Amino acid sequence: MTAAVPSWSCEDDGSAPGCAVEGVADGVIPTAGVRGRIVPDAPLAPLVWFKAGGKADWLFEPADLADLQHFLEELDGRQPVMALGLGSNLIVRDGGVPGVVIRLGKPFARVQVREGSILACGAGAHGILVASAARDAGIAGLEFLRGIPGTVGGFVRMNGGAYGREVADILIDCDVVLPDGEFATLSASQLHYSYRHSELPEGAVVVAARFRGTPGDPKAIGAEMDRIAQAREDSQPLRTKTGGSTFKNPPGQKAWQLVDGAGCRGLKLGGAQVSEKHTNFLINTGNATSADIEGLGELVREKVYARSGVGLEWEIQRVGRP
Ligand SMILES: Cc1cc2nc3c(=O)[nH]c(=O)nc-3n(C[C@H](O)[C@H](O)[C@H](O)COP(=O)(O)OP(=O)(O)OC[C@H]3O[C@@H](n4cnc5c(N)ncnc54)[C@H](O)[C@@H]3O)c2cc1C
Repeated sequence: MTAAVPSWSCEDDGSAPGCAVEGVADGVIPTAGVRGRIVPDAPLAPLVWFKAGGKADWLFEPADLADLQHFLEELDGRQPVMALGLGSNLIVRDGGVPGVVIRLGKPFARVQVREGSILACGAGAHGILVASAARDAGIAGLEFLRGIPGTVGGFVRMNGGAYGREVADILIDCDVVLPDGEFATLSASQLHYSYRHSELPEGAVVVAARFRGTPGDPKAIGAEMDRIAQAREDSQPLRTKTGGSTFKNPPGQKAWQLVDGAGCRGLKLGGAQVSEKHTNFLINTGNATSADIEGLGELVREKVYARSGVGLEWEIQRVGRP
Protein backbone atom coordinates (compact mmCIF):
# COMPACT_ATOMS: atom_id res chain seq x y z
CA MET A 1 0.00 0.00 0.00
CA THR A 2 1.42 3.41 -0.92
CA ALA A 3 1.26 6.55 1.18
CA ALA A 4 -1.21 8.06 -1.26
CA VAL A 5 -3.82 5.44 -0.44
CA PRO A 6 -5.72 6.04 2.81
CA SER A 7 -4.84 3.26 5.25
CA TRP A 8 -8.46 2.14 5.54
CA SER A 9 -9.27 2.16 1.83
CA CYS A 10 -9.40 -1.09 -0.13
CA GLU A 11 -7.48 -1.05 -3.39
CA ASP A 12 -9.10 -2.66 -6.40
CA ASP A 13 -6.21 -5.01 -7.01
CA GLY A 14 -6.61 -6.44 -3.54
CA SER A 15 -2.96 -5.87 -2.78
CA ALA A 16 -3.38 -4.34 0.66
CA PRO A 17 -0.91 -5.96 3.04
CA GLY A 18 -1.94 -8.04 5.98
CA CYS A 19 -5.36 -9.20 4.78
CA ALA A 20 -6.83 -11.39 2.11
CA VAL A 21 -8.99 -9.34 -0.21
CA GLU A 22 -10.53 -11.13 -3.16
CA GLY A 23 -12.05 -9.61 -6.27
CA VAL A 24 -12.79 -6.00 -7.15
CA ALA A 25 -14.21 -3.60 -4.61
CA ASP A 26 -16.34 -0.50 -4.65
CA GLY A 27 -16.57 1.87 -1.74
CA VAL A 28 -14.26 1.92 1.24
CA ILE A 29 -13.39 -0.69 3.76
CA PRO A 30 -10.54 -1.02 6.25
CA THR A 31 -7.87 -3.51 5.26
CA ALA A 32 -4.70 -2.38 7.01
CA GLY A 33 -3.84 -4.84 9.72
CA VAL A 34 -6.91 -6.95 9.03
CA ARG A 35 -6.06 -10.67 9.06
CA GLY A 36 -9.39 -12.19 8.10
CA ARG A 37 -10.92 -12.73 4.68
CA ILE A 38 -12.66 -9.84 2.94
CA VAL A 39 -14.68 -10.48 -0.22
CA PRO A 40 -16.36 -7.66 -2.18
CA ASP A 41 -19.64 -8.35 -3.99
CA ALA A 42 -19.92 -11.70 -2.25
CA PRO A 43 -22.83 -13.93 -3.34
CA LEU A 44 -24.89 -14.77 -0.26
CA ALA A 45 -27.24 -17.34 -1.85
CA PRO A 46 -24.79 -20.21 -1.30
CA LEU A 47 -24.51 -19.22 2.37
CA VAL A 48 -28.22 -19.27 3.25
CA TRP A 49 -30.68 -22.13 3.48
CA PHE A 50 -33.06 -20.71 0.84
CA LYS A 51 -30.18 -20.63 -1.68
CA ALA A 52 -31.59 -17.40 -3.09
CA GLY A 53 -30.89 -13.69 -2.93
CA GLY A 54 -28.25 -11.15 -3.86
CA LYS A 55 -24.73 -10.26 -2.85
CA ALA A 56 -23.19 -8.58 0.15
CA ASP A 57 -21.34 -5.39 -0.73
CA TRP A 58 -18.66 -6.90 1.48
CA LEU A 59 -18.32 -10.19 3.28
CA PHE A 60 -15.87 -10.30 6.18
CA GLU A 61 -14.75 -13.48 7.92
CA PRO A 62 -12.62 -12.36 10.88
CA ALA A 63 -9.55 -14.35 11.87
CA ASP A 64 -10.42 -13.97 15.56
CA LEU A 65 -12.00 -11.63 18.08
CA ALA A 66 -9.18 -9.07 18.01
CA ASP A 67 -9.38 -9.00 14.22
CA LEU A 68 -13.13 -8.35 14.31
CA GLN A 69 -12.70 -5.55 16.86
CA HIS A 70 -9.91 -3.95 14.87
CA PHE A 71 -11.93 -4.12 11.64
CA LEU A 72 -15.01 -2.53 13.22
CA GLU A 73 -12.97 0.17 14.97
CA GLU A 74 -11.42 1.11 11.64
CA LEU A 75 -14.77 0.89 9.82
CA ASP A 76 -15.94 3.50 12.29
CA GLY A 77 -19.63 3.23 11.44
CA ARG A 78 -19.11 4.10 7.77
CA GLN A 79 -20.95 1.02 6.54
CA PRO A 80 -23.91 -0.90 7.99
CA VAL A 81 -22.95 -4.20 9.58
CA MET A 82 -24.94 -7.42 9.70
CA ALA A 83 -23.98 -10.76 11.22
CA LEU A 84 -24.72 -13.97 9.35
CA GLY A 85 -24.93 -17.44 10.85
CA LEU A 86 -26.10 -20.38 8.76
CA GLY A 87 -28.77 -18.25 7.12
CA SER A 88 -31.41 -20.68 8.36
CA ASN A 89 -33.89 -17.95 9.24
CA LEU A 90 -33.15 -15.44 6.57
CA ILE A 91 -34.43 -14.08 3.27
CA VAL A 92 -31.64 -12.12 1.61
CA ARG A 93 -33.42 -9.89 -0.88
CA ASP A 94 -32.34 -10.04 -4.53
CA GLY A 95 -30.71 -6.59 -4.51
CA GLY A 96 -28.20 -7.76 -1.93
CA VAL A 97 -27.15 -6.49 1.46
CA PRO A 98 -25.60 -3.04 1.81
CA GLY A 99 -22.42 -2.67 3.80
CA VAL A 100 -20.60 -5.50 5.51
CA VAL A 101 -21.90 -8.97 6.26
CA ILE A 102 -19.85 -10.63 9.00
CA ARG A 103 -19.63 -14.39 9.07
CA LEU A 104 -18.03 -16.13 12.02
CA GLY A 105 -16.28 -19.31 11.00
CA LYS A 106 -14.15 -21.91 12.73
CA PRO A 107 -12.21 -19.48 14.96
CA PHE A 108 -15.52 -18.82 16.72
CA ALA A 109 -16.84 -22.37 16.82
CA ARG A 110 -15.32 -23.76 20.02
CA VAL A 111 -17.41 -25.20 22.83
CA GLN A 112 -15.92 -25.61 26.32
CA VAL A 113 -17.33 -27.24 29.43
CA ARG A 114 -17.12 -25.20 32.64
CA GLU A 115 -17.91 -25.89 36.30
CA GLY A 116 -21.57 -25.81 37.29
CA SER A 117 -23.05 -27.41 34.15
CA ILE A 118 -22.04 -24.42 32.04
CA LEU A 119 -21.07 -24.48 28.39
CA ALA A 120 -18.99 -21.63 26.99
CA CYS A 121 -19.65 -21.47 23.26
CA GLY A 122 -18.23 -19.51 20.39
CA ALA A 123 -21.01 -17.79 18.45
CA GLY A 124 -20.15 -19.69 15.28
CA ALA A 125 -20.77 -23.09 16.91
CA HIS A 126 -23.68 -25.04 15.43
CA GLY A 127 -26.62 -26.18 17.57
CA ILE A 128 -25.82 -29.84 17.07
CA LEU A 129 -22.26 -29.32 18.33
CA VAL A 130 -23.47 -27.51 21.45
CA ALA A 131 -26.10 -30.17 22.21
CA SER A 132 -23.61 -32.99 21.63
CA ALA A 133 -20.97 -31.36 23.87
CA ALA A 134 -23.61 -30.95 26.59
CA ARG A 135 -24.58 -34.61 26.28
CA ASP A 136 -20.98 -35.79 26.51
CA ALA A 137 -20.42 -33.65 29.60
CA GLY A 138 -23.65 -34.86 31.25
CA ILE A 139 -25.39 -31.49 30.99
CA ALA A 140 -29.14 -31.68 30.47
CA GLY A 141 -31.51 -28.98 29.26
CA LEU A 142 -29.81 -28.07 25.99
CA GLU A 143 -31.16 -31.00 23.97
CA PHE A 144 -33.55 -28.74 22.06
CA LEU A 145 -30.59 -27.10 20.29
CA ARG A 146 -30.06 -30.43 18.52
CA GLY A 147 -33.00 -29.69 16.27
CA ILE A 148 -32.36 -26.05 15.37
CA PRO A 149 -30.04 -25.71 12.39
CA GLY A 150 -28.30 -22.47 13.28
CA THR A 151 -25.34 -21.00 15.14
CA VAL A 152 -25.09 -19.80 18.72
CA GLY A 153 -25.07 -16.19 17.46
CA GLY A 154 -28.34 -16.75 15.60
CA PHE A 155 -29.90 -18.53 18.58
CA VAL A 156 -29.01 -15.69 20.94
CA ARG A 157 -30.34 -13.06 18.55
CA MET A 158 -33.53 -14.96 17.65
CA ASN A 159 -34.23 -16.57 21.04
CA GLY A 160 -34.34 -19.86 19.17
CA GLY A 161 -36.46 -22.53 20.75
CA ALA A 162 -38.25 -25.81 20.31
CA TYR A 163 -40.15 -28.36 22.36
CA GLY A 164 -41.10 -25.93 25.08
CA ARG A 165 -37.64 -24.51 25.68
CA GLU A 166 -35.84 -21.50 24.30
CA VAL A 167 -32.51 -19.74 24.59
CA ALA A 168 -33.90 -17.35 27.21
CA ASP A 169 -34.18 -20.39 29.56
CA ILE A 170 -30.49 -21.32 29.33
CA LEU A 171 -28.52 -18.19 28.47
CA ILE A 172 -26.38 -16.74 31.27
CA ASP A 173 -24.73 -14.02 29.21
CA CYS A 174 -23.12 -13.32 25.87
CA ASP A 175 -20.15 -11.39 24.54
CA VAL A 176 -20.76 -8.96 21.72
CA VAL A 177 -18.73 -6.61 19.59
CA LEU A 178 -20.61 -3.38 18.97
CA PRO A 179 -20.51 -1.61 15.60
CA ASP A 180 -17.75 0.71 16.83
CA GLY A 181 -15.58 -2.28 17.79
CA GLU A 182 -16.27 -2.06 21.53
CA PHE A 183 -16.44 -5.36 23.40
CA ALA A 184 -19.30 -5.87 25.89
CA THR A 185 -20.80 -8.67 27.93
CA LEU A 186 -24.59 -8.60 28.08
CA SER A 187 -26.57 -10.61 30.62
CA ALA A 188 -29.64 -12.50 29.45
CA SER A 189 -31.87 -9.99 31.24
CA GLN A 190 -30.33 -7.15 29.24
CA LEU A 191 -31.57 -8.80 26.03
CA HIS A 192 -35.24 -8.49 27.15
CA TYR A 193 -36.22 -11.73 25.53
CA SER A 194 -39.67 -12.46 24.18
CA TYR A 195 -40.92 -15.07 21.73
CA ARG A 196 -38.29 -15.36 18.93
CA HIS A 197 -37.11 -11.86 19.72
CA SER A 198 -34.30 -10.15 21.59
CA GLU A 199 -33.30 -6.55 22.05
CA LEU A 200 -29.73 -7.17 20.94
CA PRO A 201 -28.34 -3.75 19.99
CA GLU A 202 -28.55 -2.98 16.25
CA GLY A 203 -25.43 -4.14 14.42
CA ALA A 204 -24.01 -5.96 17.47
CA VAL A 205 -22.17 -9.15 16.61
CA VAL A 206 -22.49 -11.91 19.20
CA VAL A 207 -19.10 -13.62 19.49
CA ALA A 208 -19.66 -15.99 22.43
CA ALA A 209 -22.33 -17.13 24.86
CA ARG A 210 -22.54 -19.05 28.13
CA PHE A 211 -25.40 -21.50 28.59
CA ARG A 212 -26.38 -23.19 31.84
CA GLY A 213 -27.92 -26.65 32.06
CA THR A 214 -28.41 -29.12 34.89
CA PRO A 215 -26.53 -32.33 35.69
CA GLY A 216 -27.94 -35.22 33.67
CA ASP A 217 -27.29 -38.72 32.42
CA PRO A 218 -25.56 -38.69 29.01
CA LYS A 219 -27.58 -41.71 27.88
CA ALA A 220 -30.91 -40.07 28.70
CA ILE A 221 -29.76 -36.80 27.11
CA GLY A 222 -28.69 -38.66 23.98
CA ALA A 223 -32.04 -40.45 23.80
CA GLU A 224 -33.89 -37.13 24.03
CA MET A 225 -31.70 -35.71 21.25
CA ASP A 226 -32.49 -38.73 19.07
CA ARG A 227 -36.19 -38.27 19.76
CA ILE A 228 -35.97 -34.63 18.73
CA ALA A 229 -34.05 -35.48 15.54
CA GLN A 230 -36.66 -38.06 14.57
CA ALA A 231 -39.59 -35.75 15.32
CA ARG A 232 -38.00 -33.11 13.06
CA GLU A 233 -37.42 -35.61 10.31
CA ASP A 234 -41.07 -36.66 10.45
CA SER A 235 -42.58 -33.18 10.49
CA GLN A 236 -40.28 -30.73 8.67
CA PRO A 237 -38.97 -30.46 5.10
CA LEU A 238 -35.35 -30.70 6.31
CA ARG A 239 -33.67 -31.56 3.05
CA THR A 240 -35.10 -28.64 1.12
CA LYS A 241 -34.10 -25.06 0.52
CA THR A 242 -36.10 -23.40 3.26
CA GLY A 243 -35.92 -20.81 6.04
CA GLY A 244 -37.53 -22.61 8.96
CA SER A 245 -40.75 -21.33 10.50
CA THR A 246 -41.95 -18.46 8.37
CA PHE A 247 -44.37 -16.82 10.80
CA LYS A 248 -44.46 -16.53 14.57
CA ASN A 249 -47.22 -18.46 16.29
CA PRO A 250 -49.83 -15.88 17.35
CA PRO A 251 -50.69 -16.15 21.06
CA GLY A 252 -52.71 -19.32 21.63
CA GLN A 253 -52.64 -20.30 17.95
CA LYS A 254 -50.43 -22.23 15.56
CA ALA A 255 -49.28 -20.41 12.44
CA TRP A 256 -49.26 -23.65 10.41
CA GLN A 257 -52.93 -24.28 11.22
CA LEU A 258 -53.93 -20.77 10.16
CA VAL A 259 -51.97 -21.14 6.90
CA ASP A 260 -53.49 -24.55 6.27
CA GLY A 261 -56.98 -23.29 7.14
CA ALA A 262 -56.61 -20.51 4.57
CA GLY A 263 -56.04 -23.12 1.87
CA CYS A 264 -52.37 -22.31 1.35
CA ARG A 265 -50.85 -25.81 1.60
CA GLY A 266 -48.77 -26.26 -1.58
CA LEU A 267 -49.52 -22.69 -2.79
CA LYS A 268 -46.93 -21.51 -5.35
CA LEU A 269 -45.53 -18.21 -6.53
CA GLY A 270 -42.78 -18.40 -9.14
CA GLY A 271 -40.28 -20.93 -7.83
CA ALA A 272 -41.48 -20.65 -4.23
CA GLN A 273 -44.01 -22.95 -2.58
CA VAL A 274 -45.71 -23.43 0.78
CA SER A 275 -44.41 -26.79 1.98
CA GLU A 276 -46.87 -29.68 1.68
CA LYS A 277 -45.18 -31.28 4.70
CA HIS A 278 -45.28 -28.31 7.09
CA THR A 279 -47.39 -25.33 6.10
CA ASN A 280 -45.37 -22.82 8.14
CA PHE A 281 -42.35 -23.55 5.93
CA LEU A 282 -41.76 -21.92 2.55
CA ILE A 283 -39.49 -23.74 0.13
CA ASN A 284 -37.46 -22.85 -2.90
CA THR A 285 -38.43 -25.55 -5.39
CA GLY A 286 -35.44 -24.83 -7.61
CA ASN A 287 -34.82 -21.40 -9.00
CA ALA A 288 -36.96 -19.16 -6.80
CA THR A 289 -35.87 -15.57 -6.37
CA SER A 290 -36.10 -14.04 -2.94
CA ALA A 291 -38.89 -11.85 -4.38
CA ASP A 292 -40.83 -15.07 -5.12
CA ILE A 293 -40.28 -16.32 -1.57
CA GLU A 294 -41.12 -13.06 0.18
CA GLY A 295 -44.04 -12.42 -2.20
CA LEU A 296 -45.45 -15.85 -1.41
CA GLY A 297 -45.15 -15.11 2.29
CA GLU A 298 -47.08 -11.86 1.82
CA LEU A 299 -49.73 -13.69 -0.23
CA VAL A 300 -50.13 -16.20 2.59
CA ARG A 301 -50.47 -13.38 5.11
CA GLU A 302 -53.24 -11.81 3.00
CA LYS A 303 -55.11 -15.08 2.67
CA VAL A 304 -54.83 -15.87 6.38
CA TYR A 305 -56.03 -12.40 7.29
CA ALA A 306 -58.97 -12.67 4.87
CA ARG A 307 -59.91 -16.08 6.27
CA SER A 308 -59.34 -15.64 10.01
CA GLY A 309 -58.68 -11.95 10.68
CA VAL A 310 -55.25 -12.82 12.12
CA GLY A 311 -52.28 -10.75 10.96
CA LEU A 312 -49.36 -13.18 10.88
CA GLU A 313 -46.02 -11.71 11.89
CA TRP A 314 -42.88 -12.75 10.02
CA GLU A 315 -40.42 -14.84 12.04
CA ILE A 316 -37.96 -15.07 9.14
CA GLN A 317 -35.66 -12.07 9.02
CA ARG A 318 -35.83 -10.28 5.66
CA VAL A 319 -32.78 -8.21 4.86
CA GLY A 320 -31.32 -6.18 2.04
CA ARG A 321 -32.44 -4.27 -1.04
CA PRO A 322 -35.46 -5.53 -3.05
C1 LIG B 1 -35.28 -26.76 8.85
C2 LIG B 1 -35.27 -25.63 9.84
C3 LIG B 1 -35.83 -25.83 11.10
C4 LIG B 1 -35.83 -24.78 12.05
N1 LIG B 1 -36.38 -24.99 13.27
C5 LIG B 1 -36.35 -24.01 14.20
C6 LIG B 1 -36.88 -24.23 15.51
O1 LIG B 1 -37.35 -25.28 15.85
N2 LIG B 1 -36.83 -23.21 16.40
C7 LIG B 1 -36.29 -22.00 16.08
O2 LIG B 1 -36.25 -21.12 16.94
N3 LIG B 1 -35.80 -21.77 14.85
C8 LIG B 1 -35.81 -22.74 13.91
N4 LIG B 1 -35.31 -22.50 12.66
C9 LIG B 1 -34.81 -21.16 12.32
C10 LIG B 1 -33.32 -20.94 12.60
O3 LIG B 1 -32.62 -22.15 12.63
C11 LIG B 1 -33.11 -20.17 13.89
O4 LIG B 1 -33.75 -18.91 13.87
C12 LIG B 1 -31.63 -19.92 14.19
O5 LIG B 1 -31.53 -19.27 15.44
C13 LIG B 1 -30.95 -19.08 13.13
O6 LIG B 1 -29.58 -19.21 13.33
P1 LIG B 1 -28.53 -18.77 12.22
O7 LIG B 1 -27.22 -18.82 12.91
O8 LIG B 1 -28.67 -19.58 10.98
O9 LIG B 1 -28.93 -17.28 11.94
P2 LIG B 1 -29.22 -16.57 10.54
O10 LIG B 1 -30.39 -17.20 9.90
O11 LIG B 1 -27.95 -16.49 9.77
O12 LIG B 1 -29.61 -15.11 11.04
C14 LIG B 1 -30.82 -14.90 11.74
C15 LIG B 1 -30.73 -13.56 12.47
O13 LIG B 1 -29.73 -13.67 13.48
C16 LIG B 1 -28.71 -12.68 13.26
N5 LIG B 1 -27.43 -13.28 13.64
C17 LIG B 1 -26.86 -14.42 13.19
N6 LIG B 1 -25.67 -14.62 13.76
C18 LIG B 1 -25.46 -13.56 14.59
C19 LIG B 1 -24.39 -13.16 15.45
N7 LIG B 1 -23.26 -13.88 15.59
N8 LIG B 1 -24.53 -12.00 16.13
C20 LIG B 1 -25.64 -11.23 15.99
N9 LIG B 1 -26.69 -11.56 15.20
C21 LIG B 1 -26.60 -12.71 14.52
C22 LIG B 1 -28.78 -12.33 11.79
O14 LIG B 1 -28.25 -11.04 11.54
C23 LIG B 1 -30.27 -12.41 11.55
O15 LIG B 1 -30.92 -11.24 12.00
C24 LIG B 1 -35.28 -23.52 11.70
C25 LIG B 1 -34.72 -23.35 10.43
C26 LIG B 1 -34.72 -24.37 9.51
C27 LIG B 1 -34.12 -24.15 8.14
